[in-house]
Amino acid sequence: MVDTKKILFGLTLQELKQEVTDLGLPSYTAAQIAQWLYSKGVDTVEQMTNISLSARNMLQERFAMGLYAPTQVQVSKDGTKKYLFAVSQGRFVEAAYMPETSRSTLCVSTQVGCRMGCRFCMTATQGLQGNLTAGEILNQIRSLPERQTLTNIVYMGMGEPLDNLQETLKSLEILTSSYGFGMSAKRITVSTIGLLPALEEFLQKSTCNLAISLHSPFDSERQELMPMQKAHPIKEILEAIKTPAADRTRRISFEYIVFKGVNHSRTHANEIARILNGMKCRINLLRYHSLPNNPLQTPTEEDMQVFQQLLEQKGLITTIRKSRGQDIDAACGLLSTKMLKNKTLNTF
Ligand code: SF4
Repeated sequence: MVDTKKILFGLTLQELKQEVTDLGLPSYTAAQIAQWLYSKGVDTVEQMTNISLSARNMLQERFAMGLYAPTQVQVSKDGTKKYLFAVSQGRFVEAAYMPETSRSTLCVSTQVGCRMGCRFCMTATQGLQGNLTAGEILNQIRSLPERQTLTNIVYMGMGEPLDNLQETLKSLEILTSSYGFGMSAKRITVSTIGLLPALEEFLQKSTCNLAISLHSPFDSERQELMPMQKAHPIKEILEAIKTPAADRTRRISFEYIVFKGVNHSRTHANEIARILNGMKCRINLLRYHSLPNNPLQTPTEEDMQVFQQLLEQKGLITTIRKSRGQDIDAACGLLSTKMLKNKTLNTF
């Protein structure tokens, strides 16, 4: 029999208020449920002990919790862990946990697959299989074995967060609200290729940090790497993030994957400086790691350092991001693509 119950985990306070009103329960029950779900982190409705037994019974009849553990984990020798979550119909999403000395970051997915078609991305080869709900996005955090150690969250896993804007915004609301996880927006970064006008709505409604995937300052070259450049040109994206809504207190950064012999010349550095035109931001250089059946190549460490120097000479704050988990299926989408092909689930 198909379970037709609604899912409780991932509802905003407003949505919980509507649900308890529909059940004829007092509206303060919504805040109680939210506290149990997000702050106290219980696994079952029975554990919500300040709610009356009859109300709990009604809730259990109508709702399932919607919490589930990862089905597989790969552990790198550098401490990175890649978790696989089975969402539905043999589909998988990945979350990567990256512990460091002073912080621990989790990279979460917002979609199953992706339809943006970036040439360097394994997730793109899956196409879009579906959007995650806010609950499915948050479950990657809530059901992480190391959740108590987490300090930072990046929306940088499978999928384009702004292509699933409403569920992404709901998950951010629950993460940052006092009724939810109560996390500082300063510790959350949403990474996007810059879909318009979703980007403008995100900037209006969220104060979380923003990371824009740049990868080339030249329109034609960026379009070759990221076909969505045609519909969402970098010039218009830069205009959008110069507005007052973008400014506030959020941190803006640019992600720049370096491909051997493609996008790390002095001309590239000069053009990046020109288009950013003194903007207060940081550039994160990421070293591309070759993927199966993909002609793009891995740059050397020296290539990375030379390009960093070229950017810094232009006054741009530039960091080389450490490559993590190279001994496991580290590239985003690699593990889930394998699983999609195998359609096999192993447990750990
Ligand atoms: S890089 Fe991001 S936006 Fe581009 S195809 Fe991959 S998941 Fe989608």
